[in-house]
Amino acid sequence: MPEETFVIAGASLAGAKAAETLREEGFAGRVLLIGEEIERPYERPPLSKGFLLDKEQREKAHVHEGDWYDKHEVDLRLGVSVDAIDRAAHQVRLSTKEPIGYDKLLLATGASPRQLEVPGSRLQGIHYLRTMADSAALKQALAHGGRRVVVAGAGWIGLETAAAARSYGNDVTVIEPEPVPLHASVGPELGAVFADLHREHGVDLRLDQGVAGFWGAGQVSAVVTSGGAEVPADVVIVGIGVRPNTRLAEEAGLEVADGVLVDASLRTSDPDIYAAGDVANAYNPLLGRRIRVEHWANALNGGPAAARAMLGQEVTYDRVPYFFSDQYDLGMEMSGVATPGEYDEVVYRGDVAGREFIAFWLSGGRVVGGMNVNVWDVTGDIQTLIRSGSPVDGTRLADPETPLTELA
Ligand SMILES: Cc1cc2nc3c(=O)[nH]c(=O)nc-3n(C[C@H](O)[C@H](O)[C@H](O)COP(=O)(O)OP(=O)(O)OC[C@H]3O[C@@H](n4cnc5c(N)ncnc54)[C@H](O)[C@@H]3O)c2cc1C
Repeated sequence: MPEETFVIAGASLAGAKAAETLREEGFAGRVLLIGEEIERPYERPPLSKGFLLDKEQREKAHVHEGDWYDKHEVDLRLGVSVDAIDRAAHQVRLSTKEPIGYDKLLLATGASPRQLEVPGSRLQGIHYLRTMADSAALKQALAHGGRRVVVAGAGWIGLETAAAARSYGNDVTVIEPEPVPLHASVGPELGAVFADLHREHGVDLRLDQGVAGFWGAGQVSAVVTSGGAEVPADVVIVGIGVRPNTRLAEEAGLEVADGVLVDASLRTSDPDIYAAGDVANAYNPLLGRRIRVEHWANALNGGPAAARAMLGQEVTYDRVPYFFSDQYDLGMEMSGVATPGEYDEVVYRGDVAGREFIAFWLSGGRVVGGMNVNVWDVTGDIQTLIRSGSPVDGTRLADPETPLTELA
C-alpha cells in the first residue's frame, strides 16, 4: 500500500504546529509543509514588540529549531507556494510545477494585510507589517528616532507599532476613523483606556477621520486625512486589518465566507481538506456561531486540533478566543469576545486609572469577555467564568476580595 501523504499549505504557526502534532500522535506517513516565505516557520507577535524594539533576537521567534524538520521527517519546502488544488485527483500543484498527491490536506495559509488604496499609496516610506522582513525594514526606519511617523489605523498592529515608534523617540500621529482605538475589538469603554495610554505617551491621536491620500515625490512626505488636514510624515505604517488568504480554497470550490468555512472539527466542505489559524472561519460550539480568530493562540491550538481531526480523532474545537498585547508598560490578555453590540455593560475590578485591573464584558448578566491589564495568572479563571455561562452578580464581580473561582 502506498505511504499516506498529508500536505500542509502554509508554513507558519498553525502549519508547523499541525506537523508537530501529526508526529507526536504517531503518524508515520509523509508530511509536507509548504510555505511561500523563505524563513522557516516563526511566530509573528515579536514582530511588533520585542523584535521591532530590538530586545529580542529573530531566532527566538522560530517555532522549531532548524534541524527539527529533518529529525522528524517533515518535508519542509520554503519559498514554494501551493498554487492549486485538484480535489478530484487529490493533488496540489506547487509553484515548482510539481504535482503532489495528498490523502489529507490542511489549509494554514493565514492572512495578509489589507491594502490602503488611496492616491499616493505606492510612495516609498509606506510600511505594512506581516513578515519578519517587514519588521526588519520598519525597525530600520524607526530605530534612529527623530522622525515623523504616521500610523494609519488604531487597531492592535497600529497601536503596538505606535508604542514602538515612540519608544525610539519618534513623533507619532495615529489616524483612525472610529471614535476610539480598538473600537471593533473591545468597544468604546476599553478603547478609551488605550486612547489615554497613547496620549500620555505623547501620541497625537486623530480620531473620527481616515486617510484620504499621501503626498510626496517618490518618498512620502505627508498624509492627507479625510478631514482635509495634512500631517507631515517621513514614515507611514498602515495597519488597517487583514484579509484571510482564501484564494486556493475559493478556486477549489470550497465554501468560503470571510475565511474558509469549517465545522467544529476544522473540516471544510471537502471531508479530506481542513483549515486552521487565521484563514479558518470555524463553528465554535461554545459561542454557538462561526468565528474567524486572527490571533496567535488560535494558530497555536487550531493547527494541532486540525492535525488530530485529520488523523480521524474526535475533535471539537471550542476554545475561548484569547489574545495578548504589550504597549509601553501595559501588558494585557483578552479572553472571549467584546464586540460592540454584543454586550450590555462593562464591569471593572481593580484600579482602572492606574492600569491594573480586570474588565469584564457582560451580556444578559453573563460574562462573555474579560481583559486583564497588568494583572496576571487570572486568564484561566476568566475563561472558566465565560465557559460556565452562569449569571454573575456585578457587585461581587467588581470586588477584588471575591475570588473569581466563587463566581463561576
Ligand atoms: C506584527 C504582528 C503582531 C502580532 N501580535 C499578536 C499578538 O500580540 N497576540 C496575538 O494573539 N496575535 C498576534 N498576531 C497575530 C498572529 O501572529 C496570527 O494570528 C498568526 O500568525 C496566525 O498564524 P497562521 O499560521 O494561521 O497564519 P500566518 O501567520 O498568516 O501564516 C500563513 C503562512 O502561509 C503562507 N502562505 C499563504 N498562502 C500560501 C500558499 N498558497 N502556499 C504556501 N504558503 C502560503 C504565508 O506566506 C504565511 O507564511 C500578530 C500578527 C502580526 C502580523
